[in-house]
This record gives sequence, C-alpha cells and structure tokens, in this order.
Amino acid sequence: SKIKDMSAEVVDSNPYSRLMALQRMGVVENYERIRDYSVAIIGIGGVGSVAAEMLTRCGIGRLLLYDYDTVELANMNRLFFRPEQVGMTKTDAAVQTLSGINPDVVLESYSLNITTVKGFETFLASLTARSSHERSTGVDLVLSCVDNYEARMVVNQACNELGQTWMESVMQDHVMFHTIGLESSVHTIGLKRTHSVSEDAVSGHIQLLVPGETACFACAPPLVVASGVDERTLKREGVCAASLPTTMGVVAGLLVQNALKYLLNFGQVSPYLGYNSLKDYFPTMEMRPNPQCSNPACVQRQKEYMDSKPARAAAAKAK
Ligand code: ATP
Ligand code: ZN
Repeated sequence: SKIKDMSAEVVDSNPYSRLMALQRMGVVENYERIRDYSVAIIGIGGVGSVAAEMLTRCGIGRLLLYDYDTVELANMNRLFFRPEQVGMTKTDAAVQTLSGINPDVVLESYSLNITTVKGFETFLASLTARSSHERSTGVDLVLSCVDNYEARMVVNQACNELGQTWMESVMQDHVMFHTIGLESSVHTIGLKRTHSVSEDAVSGHIQLLVPGETACFACAPPLVVASGVDERTLKREGVCAASLPTTMGVVAGLLVQNALKYLLNFGQVSPYLGYNSLKDYFPTMEMRPNPQCSNPACVQRQKEYMDSKPARAAAAKAK
C-alpha cells in the first residue's frame, strides 16, 4: 500500500493534474489551454516576480520577463528573490527560479530599460515575434508591474500601437477618486478627484486596459502628474503599508486571478479593482476611453472600436 501512496503523490505533483481540479469543479472549461498562452510581464519587482511565479505554477506556456535592474539585498523584504541571487539581473534570477519550479514554461529574459529608444524597439519586437513556443505569434496578455509613470506610459504606448490588451498593477496608490465617482462609467475626465488623503487612498490597484474599448493610461493622467506633485515626495509618505510583502502578494494575486479569468474565459474580469490594505476595502469602477486622449494610437483604436460596433452587435444577435 506504501507504493500505491507514493504513485498517487507523483501524479498529484504534476502541475497540470493539480490544476485540472479547477476544470473538474466546473469553473474552467478548458484548463489545459493555459499551455498555449504567452504572457509578458514588465517589471520583475515586488508584484511582477510573484505574478510570474503564480503563472509558472499554473502551467502558463510562455513568459516574457522585462526589467532593467539587478537583485539587491534590499529586495529581501519582498517575496520571491533569494540572497544568493544578489547581483544577478532580476530577469535572469527569475528565469533561474521559475525554470526550477516548472521546466515546461518557455521563459524569455529581457534585461533592458523599456523607456530607451533601443529598449523600446526590442520590447515592441519581442511582443510580436514568433516564439520558440511555436504555437502562435505575439503574446496574449501584457502585465505591467513597473513602479513609475514614465515606464507605464511606454507600456501604454506599445499596447495602443499593437492593439494589445494589458493589465496594470499599481502599488502605493495616490490617485484618489471621490467615492461618488467610483461607480460612474462616464468619461474619466468627468470623474471627480479629490486631494484629500487617507479616506479613499488605496494601497494598490489593478486595471484592465483594452485599447479603444476602455480608458488607456493617457486618457486620464493620474492626479500626481496632473497636479504637478512630485511622485517621489508622495512615494516616501506612503511607502510603509504598500511595500509590505503581504500587500504586494495580495495585489499580485488579484492581478493573476484576473489574468487567468481573461485568458481562460471564466468569471468576470474586473475593469478596475482597488485594494485598501488598512481598511480591507476593495473599490471597483469602469473607465471609458477619452475621445480627446493625447495618445494618437488610443484615438485610432477608439475609432476602430466604434466602427466595429454593428458587426459585434450582429454577432451577438446570431449567438
Ligand atoms: P522600490 O522601488 O520600492 O525600491 P523596486 O525597484 O524593486 O523597489 P518594485 O515596485 O518592486 O520596485 O518593482 C518595479 C520593477 O519595475 C523594478 O524591478 C524596476 O526595476 C522595474 N522597472 C521600472 N521601470 C522600468 C523600465 N523603464 N524598464 C524596465 N524595468 C523597469
Ligand atoms: Zn487614451
């Protein structure tokens, strides 16, 4: 009987048989399709590294990892990286750990700055390239886990140009929305914003961005930029609660949960989900694109989306 128990364990340690449980529960129709999907993660820091590990353990087909930084001892108050990896690029250290966890995942390491001309070129090319994971070209989803405005604008630019759906995660959220505005689906421009702190402040949020269909990152610049407040000043004030490995783990979990729902087509993908770690408050809202967006690629995608409306309505009717 001992031998039987052992073999049962071996079967259970297969990541796919473990995850097939989801399918048996009837939540996901075709769980094994996860192996066909490619996900790009920009920023392998507190949130991105954990998201990468979750997707690896879920059996994702291919992960493209981007970061310009190396692992430091100061990162040990986060999850994922280990002290012996100090000095390695974050992307190489991630590939090392992830390939050990699940050797079936195709892992691509891009140690570069996406905001430089050369970095952006490589970034854009890699998002559309035919992969060694020969099933398809391009990626199915982009996850932005960077920690600054400039890098977010670049991810936004790339995804608008490619018409690529992406999800964004933000830690230490200083973009305060008036509670009244939260449920509103009017233009983001119409949303009332407030400078008052704490009450509505959230520790982080995730957001779904579908070019042309939802607000892009440039449709409504965050308050910190709009009001000319220095990002770094704000960062120092709110750094404690948001930088905890717990908060980052929660945000990474929310991000990957929604990525899985999007890829495997189950449940409801949250257009925006905030997390206030002090009050355990999770605000949600929807943001429509701004026709006057400063990003020309966004305006172009909006036009295409409007033009495709009759065809989509007909397809929905035929169902
Ligand atoms: P902290 O900023 O709190 O000191 P951190 O640098 O690890 O920590 P995180 O918020 O944990 O920041 O992760 C963000 C990640 O995004 C970092 O690893 C950072 O190197 C990466 N990143 C930011 N901007 C770019 C960029 N332009 N190109 C590539 N990677 C970037
Ligand atoms: Zn826009």
